Amino acid sequence: MVRRKLIAGNWKMNCLSADGVALAKSVAAQVKAGKFDCEFLICPPFTLLGLVKKCLRGSKVGLGAQDVHFAEKGAHTGDISPLMIKDLGCSYTIIGHSERRVDHAESNQLINQKAVAAHAAGLNTVICIGETEKERDAGKTIKVCQTEINGSVPADSTAKNTVIAYEPIWAIGTGKTPTAADVQEVHAAIRQALAKKLGKATASKMRILYGGSVKPGNAAELLSLPDVDGALIGGASLKADDFIAIAKNASK
Ligand code: PEP
Repeated sequence: MVRRKLIAGNWKMNCLSADGVALAKSVAAQVKAGKFDCEFLICPPFTLLGLVKKCLRGSKVGLGAQDVHFAEKGAHTGDISPLMIKDLGCSYTIIGHSERRVDHAESNQLINQKAVAAHAAGLNTVICIGETEKERDAGKTIKVCQTEINGSVPADSTAKNTVIAYEPIWAIGTGKTPTAADVQEVHAAIRQALAKKLGKATASKMRILYGGSVKPGNAAELLSLPDVDGALIGGASLKADDFIAIAKNASK
C-alpha cells in the first residue's frame, strides 16, 4: 500500500506578519525549486492564514489551521468555525493537539465533534493522539492511543479526510524521541485500532504521522519506518531550511 507522505508544519503561536510571510515564501520557493515526492502542509496561527495563503498561491504547499470549533456559526466568542477556515483557503485543520487537550481541557468527545464538523465543511483533519511520560513509564502507551483513536476519530473518517498524528507528549519540544522500534510498534498498533474502528481497507490507506522533536538529523530514520507516513513538525517548521531538509527524507 503506497501512502504518499505528508510533511506538515505546526507553527503554533509563533510569527508576526513579517516573519510569517518570509517563512511561507521561503518554504514555497524551496518546494518549487526542489524535487519532492511528498505532500506539504503548513499550519500558521489563525491571524496569519489570509496572508500566508497569498504567499502560497501557485505553490504545492497546502494551508491548514491549528484548531476549529464544531459549530457552523453563532455565539462562540473567540472561536473560528470550519467554514471560516475553509473560506480562508485552508484544506486541513489540526485538532486534538496535546497542547489543546491540556491547555483547554479538550476531551476525545469534543475532538470527535470538531472532526465531524470539519469534514462536513470539506476540510481534512489531522487528529493528534499520544501519551504522557507518566503513561509511557507505566507501559500504557498503546492503551492510551487506542482510547484516543476510539474516542476522537469519528465514524465518518476516511483515508482522504483524516490523517492521524502520533505525538508522544514527552517528545514535543523536548529534543527527546522514542526509539525507531518504539515508534514503529506504536504506529502499527494505531493502524490496528483504526482497522477495528473503520475497517481494514481504510486503515491500510490512512496516513499516520509521527510528531515530537523531528529534526533534519533524525528524519531519515523516522520517515523510513513502514508505518510512518510523514511528520508533524513544530519547532523545526519555523526554519524553512530545516523543514525542507526534513522533507527531503520523505522523498527518498
Ligand atoms: C508539535 O507540537 O506538533 C510538535 C511536533 O512539536 P516539536 O516538533 O517542536 O516537538
